[in-house]
This record gives sequence, structure tokens and C-alpha cells, in this order.
Amino acid sequence: MTDPAEHIETAAVTAGRPSGPGSPVNTPATFTSTYRFGGDVGYGRWGNPTWSAFEEALGRLEGGYAVAFSSGMGAVSALIDTLPLGSLVVAHDTAYSGTRSLLAQCAAHGTHRIRRVDMTDTEATIEALDGAELLWVETPTNPMLGIVDLSTVLGTANARGVTSVVDNTFATPVLQRPLEFGVTAVMHSATKYIGGHSDLLLGAVVTRDEAMRDQLLAHRTSRGAIPGTMEAWLALRGMRTLPLRMERAQSNALALATRLRAHPAVVAVSYPGLSDHPAAAIVTQQMDGPGAMVSFELADAQIADAFTAKLRIITDATSLGGVETTIDRRSRWDGDEGVPVGLMRLSVGIEHVDDLWADIAQALQT
Ligand SMILES: *Cc1c(COP(=O)(O)O)cnc(C)c1O
Repeated sequence: MTDPAEHIETAAVTAGRPSGPGSPVNTPATFTSTYRFGGDVGYGRWGNPTWSAFEEALGRLEGGYAVAFSSGMGAVSALIDTLPLGSLVVAHDTAYSGTRSLLAQCAAHGTHRIRRVDMTDTEATIEALDGAELLWVETPTNPMLGIVDLSTVLGTANARGVTSVVDNTFATPVLQRPLEFGVTAVMHSATKYIGGHSDLLLGAVVTRDEAMRDQLLAHRTSRGAIPGTMEAWLALRGMRTLPLRMERAQSNALALATRLRAHPAVVAVSYPGLSDHPAAAIVTQQMDGPGAMVSFELADAQIADAFTAKLRIITDATSLGGVETTIDRRSRWDGDEGVPVGLMRLSVGIEHVDDLWADIAQALQT
């Protein structure tokens, strides 16, 4: 758990390390499928000291108990599975496509009921909570960068006994700590900013509810969506520089969003750090910064694809949160059909901002 006096930059560096004379400074990667009889764990699917170190560190940053999974979707599945059969889940109309399609599958199989709502509309969200078991929030949303009012929405969910989850992948605990707003559980795709180098897949849930933590651990052990040792080790190493990476990527993002908005070829820019974002006031209330994801719209798919083909530094690839800047025209993927065809989702990295802008400017030239 977080020590309120501790800054996140310090926690990111000090958490999850061995202690005591003679111990290594870093937690070793423990590659083993089993353990000699008589210890705490027993078998490799039940636990691993490298996972534990990653969990301790992420738990410190978010302020709860972390449970790591094989991927972000492994974490989403575990959370959905802890609900009673037939539960009503309130979810975003537009949000991460993987979560939306998993929920659609649950509805099609009849295991859960899904109610979709535009969660940037606070009143509509509160209305949608009627009879719900779970509220699934993402903020900022992927890929439209909409913002959900955490204190109002989570406060109402708690007052009505509705369990809640915030997918905190875009903001990371550096910029937003939903447990402080009363959410039941925070979910992460650690594949993104936490790992930070586009070289692994990993997921996690963080909660202050011990019963939920135990349920998630039991689920992971029996269903088997366990993290890999190497992935947990790399993600812990990535976490050491998370605050530093976020700081640089965010300042690059603000500069690029501002320049994009002024460019005649750009139809619209959505970035929570621009003063004309519809939820700019909520951003300052609940986030320590607007993050490093910028979405902008070009006139049509053809123009957008021609732009992408001309980029030299920025990589045309999906996923996000790496040190390198990547760009993705989202509507080309299944599951993001509702997104405008010319919408470009830019994951801003830590390169020099002038080089990034020069690359964008030359590619926008017709
Ligand atoms: C990528 C992503 C996920 C899924 O995580 P994986 O690690 O790819 O399984 C969930 N939510 C958001 C917001 C994401 O960007």
C-alpha cells in the first residue's frame, strides 16, 4: 500500500526489491516450474517471486494489492468471471475494443447482461446504474480520449452498492489513482506504459478489497492466465522509469497536440490537455496530467493512409505506451467500426519533440 508521504517517483524506484545484507539489489527472474517441498508456494502456477515483486511495486504505485495476469485481457476476464451469472454490467459505448468484444461475447453466451452508455455523459451513466452489478469505466477512453467524471460516477456506484472497475491503462498511476476515488478495482494492460518498451504482454488488477484479491488469485491459479517470469521481470524494470517516461511523453504530447490543432489539414484534435477538451475541468480535478495519447482526425481514410505511409520516425503500428512514438488508424481494425475513418491515435514517445513534429509536418504536406 502507498505511504502517503512517499512520492511516486521514489516508490517506482524502491518498491519490489529484496532486502537484507547480501541480497541482490534487483529481484532475480526466477525461472522454475516447481519448488522443493516444504516452502510457501509448491508449484509454478501458484506463485513466483518475480510476479510478487512486480505486484508489490504496482500495488505501491496504485495504493492497493496487485494481482498480475498473462495480459490485460486476462485481467479483464478474471474480473468479469468473479461476477455472479446473469449480472448486469454497465459499460462504455466506445472504449477499448477487446473489452467491448469480450462483453459482447458474454452477452451472446447469456452469462452476463450488458448495458452500454456514453460515460462522458455523467447523468446518463448514473441512470444506467439502475439494477447493475458492475460498472466498467475507462478514462481517458481508447481511442476517443473521452473523460469520465470519477468522483461523481464512482461515488454514486458506491452509494448504490455497485462494484466498479477503472481501466487505468492510458493514465497509469503516475497521472490517476482511481482507488483514491473509491473504485473497487483498477485494471491495467501493463503491456502499454508500465512495461513501456513494446516488448511484452502483461496485465494486472489492483484492489484494496482483500476478498476480491483472494478471489482473483484463486481464479488465476485455477484458470491459469498466469504472468510469464520474463514478462514480470521486464515490466518491473520498465516501471522504474515510468514517472520519467510519462513526464517526457506527456510534454511531447502537449506540444504535438497544440501544433496539430493549428494545422489546416487536421479536422479535429482530442487531447485532454487542451483547454477546449469538453472535460478539461474534470481532467484537472482527477488527473495529475493529461497523458501522452493524442487522437486527431484527418479528412478521410485515403488521406490518413497516405499520411502514415510518409512517416519516417513515427511507426505505423497498433498498441501504445512505448518509448517510441506509434500511430494507428483505429477504424481499420475489427471492433473499432464506430470510430471515424480518418481518426489517428498517436501514442507519443520520448524522442525529441522537434523531430516528431518535423516528421508529422512533412507527412501532412500534400
Ligand atoms: C491494450 C489494452 C487492453 C488489453 O490489454 P492486453 O495486454 O493487450 O491484453 C485493455 N485496455 C486498454 C485500454 C488497452 O489499451
